Amino acid sequence: MRISLKEAGELLKAAQNIIITAHVNPDGDAIGSSLGVMHCLRSLGKRVRVVIDDDIPSNFAFLHAGDIIEKPIITAGGEKEAVDLLLILDTSSERVGKVLEAFSPSQILNIDHHVTNPLACPAVYLDPDSAATAEIIYRLLHEMGMEITKDIAMAVYTGLATDTGFFRFPNTTPFTMRAAADLLERGAESGLISEAVEAKPFARVVGMARALETIELLYDGRLAGIFLDRAAAETLDSTEGLIDAMRTIEGSDVSVLLKWKEDNVFRVSMRSKNTDVSKVAASFSGGGHARAAGCTLKMGFSEAKMTILDALGKAMAEK
Ligand code: 5GP
Ligand code: MN
Repeated sequence: MRISLKEAGELLKAAQNIIITAHVNPDGDAIGSSLGVMHCLRSLGKRVRVVIDDDIPSNFAFLHAGDIIEKPIITAGGEKEAVDLLLILDTSSERVGKVLEAFSPSQILNIDHHVTNPLACPAVYLDPDSAATAEIIYRLLHEMGMEITKDIAMAVYTGLATDTGFFRFPNTTPFTMRAAADLLERGAESGLISEAVEAKPFARVVGMARALETIELLYDGRLAGIFLDRAAAETLDSTEGLIDAMRTIEGSDVSVLLKWKEDNVFRVSMRSKNTDVSKVAASFSGGGHARAAGCTLKMGFSEAKMTILDALGKAMAEK
């Protein structure tokens, strides 16, 4: 059921023992939103933990994310820990890994900005017009009458900045900028945040350069793609940044990154300037936004490459 932001705030205020989670492969929005709400709820004296079923990138150490965020623990007997409320951020319940196996919440609240959210949770606040889940959290904290401390400002600004490509993508609105300005006044350190988020080990920069050499320009230059089979994927510890580099190619609309994950499983990331890639992602059970989406393809490398290129070609032709 969809609820208002006021009702979301009331659910949080009513709960005492709260687990906050977000999507696997957590990004700045997932981590920043989670830590922002956690600080706020802890200041109200509640027992709050953040539990995400994945590794936390060391880039977010400036938020102490790796120390604070726990992984779910699945007991041998499969008993679940009872909690008052599970708050799912920046995704619906299908991308939280084993968190649902570890906890038995009396209530589940979902706050998200993905247009493809299936509205499957009992209480959902969804706003696809918000640039980031962190932007919704910013409004929620105001709605709840909370004071925004420096810790909260740092976390929420990180979510806003990362989901908007540091305020460059078209999801950036006047409201996003006003929220960011307010967070800066409350202690968010923009320079420190951008440096920390973008820092990469030397080997990753070299790996990116090698992967960039394999870019293919297809459909008369309207699509740029990098396709990493197992051998290519195993030489890279991260593909972060590749898709953003492709986005800058003049004349291109869609960028796609296909990456081996395990045998017959490939991850797809898509970005676009005009084409709605959330529909392509949703057609393969993935999701996201019109201009940034992703999915998983369970097939061999050549078939996966052909399948995604065919679907993107059709989506571009619809424009
Ligand atoms: P990225 O390419 O950065 O992994 O993801 C781009 C956007 O699509 C993000 O908002 C992300 O949450 C969403 N997304 C990526 N993969 C999936 C997926 O498999 N399922 C869903 N529902 N959303 C995804
Ligand atoms: Mn987000």
